[in-house]
Order: sequence, then C-alpha cells, then structure tokens
Amino acid sequence: MEQELRDLYQELILDHVRHPRNFHEMADATRTVEGHNPLCGDHLRLFVKLEAGRIADVSFVGEGCAISTASASLLTEALKGKTVEEAETLLSKMVELLTASEAPTDPMALGKLGVLAGVRDYPSRVKCAMLPWRTLEAALSDDAPAAISTE
Ligand code: ZN
Repeated sequence: MEQELRDLYQELILDHVRHPRNFHEMADATRTVEGHNPLCGDHLRLFVKLEAGRIADVSFVGEGCAISTASASLLTEALKGKTVEEAETLLSKMVELLTASEAPTDPMALGKLGVLAGVRDYPSRVKCAMLPWRTLEAALSDDAPAAISTE
C-alpha cells in the first residue's frame, strides 16, 4: 500500500476508535444482532431501525479491537439513511474490498470506507474488519438471527 494511504488509514482508524460514531443502544431498533469474532475477542451489538425499506437509524455498542470498532463506526456513518438495497450493494463491495484475492484497484472509490482496505496487509485482522459487516448482513436478512459468529 502506498504510504499516503497507509497514513490516512491509521489516522482515520484512530479517530473512529477514539470517537466511535453512533455508539449507543437503540430502544426502538427493529433489528438487533450480536456479532462475535472469537479469533480476536471482538464483540458487538448492532441496532438497525428499518422504516419503509430504509435504514432510518443504525448504531452499535460493544467491545472490540481498534479495527472492529473503527469498521463498525464507519459502517454506521455510511449506512444511515440508505435503502436496504443500497446497503446490500455496499455490503457486497465491502466484502470484496476486504476478502477478494486481488487487491482493489481503486479502494477510495468507496470513500472513507476505502481506508479499511489497509487491513488486507494484516490478514489476521480481516475478520475484525468484517465483523460489523457480517452482523449487518444478518440484521438485513428476513429472518434475522439473534447472533452471528465469524467462525
Ligand atoms: Zn479484532
């Protein structure tokens, strides 16, 4: 990864770790899913409020490493107000960004979320970054499970 992107990655991750966005419980959430990454010990609870096919609100609480916290924080920021369809498109782009065998040619096409591509340099952390997105995937499914695990 280029140095510039690496610096941006670290700066943005740290900012979201120190000041996680939408970090609170949500009493009127329509979907709540627990996500667990046993490899690292990351644990989060994702709250989604669906209204007329749109993510009216999204928040999370939990304890996890810097990568999982930053990824969850960035997720909530990116998805608030999006339609379920848009969220699913973004989800599949993030799965590709983080797990495709070929490195992304233009990670910044995803805006701020693109910095998470930096995690590809640390294969053991990919599941940390993926955890909030896997949890979102479960929350958006029609019969949302109460909990998911990356293992
Ligand atoms: Zn982790």
